[in-house]
Amino acid sequence: MIAPLWRDAVPARFAVIGDPIDHSRSPQMQNAALKKLREPGDFVAIRVPPSEACFALEHLASLGYVGVNVTVPNKSAVIPWLQSVEPFAQRVGAVNTIDLRDRRGTNTDGAGFLATFPKEVRRVLILGAGGSSRALLAALEDAGIVTALWNRSADRAEDLVAELKLSTLVLREAALKDFDVVVNATSASLQGAMPTALDWSTAPSNCLAYELAYPGSSSAFLNSAESAGLATMDGLPLLVEQGALSLEWWLRVSAPRKIMMEAIQ
Ligand code: NDP
Repeated sequence: MIAPLWRDAVPARFAVIGDPIDHSRSPQMQNAALKKLREPGDFVAIRVPPSEACFALEHLASLGYVGVNVTVPNKSAVIPWLQSVEPFAQRVGAVNTIDLRDRRGTNTDGAGFLATFPKEVRRVLILGAGGSSRALLAALEDAGIVTALWNRSADRAEDLVAELKLSTLVLREAALKDFDVVVNATSASLQGAMPTALDWSTAPSNCLAYELAYPGSSSAFLNSAESAGLATMDGLPLLVEQGALSLEWWLRVSAPRKIMMEAIQ
């Protein structure tokens, strides 16, 4: 479905804003949740270029929108419009959930990501130092999990760790032997590529390969881990969890995660 540009948005109660946004599965997931909860109103997708993010929020608020999920590339661009930003979102410089009624912003990506993990995880390697890695690394560190970071541009990884004051180790090569979970937080899979050469035979046999991207395009990262006999996971559980936490923040209800997952599988 082609999402309207923000100026052409029709009144609704909730939206996800991004650019591009047509591919988003949030409307089908969140509408299933709203229906199950017998909550009124629709959840729609709206295209918002980052340079217009603050105008778009003002416009959506005037149309009566209550809540907005924010995705790439708008997670930082929305911050100037907000009156208050919760501490975790402030720290990572990214807001993915807004309450338009009182101009508050939060970030459910970090907590959502942690909730998708097996409890016994101790050491995590993140591949990629883009926008999503910031929330992931900060949440992992807050949970006492040891993190390492590899990025094809090593400088960007060093800058991220310094800016967020993390104790993350920056690796020049993605060596796998010490990690319970390896997360592909690069956008390499969207280009049909491996993020870097990975020798899965050196990973612990119980290592989990976690791809942040949704299924749809084939993930060379997940395919290679599967061929090596390792457990794998894609980005759908994270999509559900961060969306469920957003709903709970807006509506103070318990989100129906199972229904939400069924709606997007
Ligand atoms: P960004 O654009 O902010 O960052 C992209 C990262 O990928 C950078 O570190 C970049 O490296 C790296 N990269 C891009 N292409 C390649 C390549 N060919 N080889 C190696 N590294 C590459 O993206 P995000 O952090 O916002 O998102 C990353 C991924 O996570 C995307 O696939 C996105 O769809 C997914 N995602 C899924 C979510 C979910 O709910 N499941 C939530 C958020 C994100 P460099 O710095 O060198 O340019």
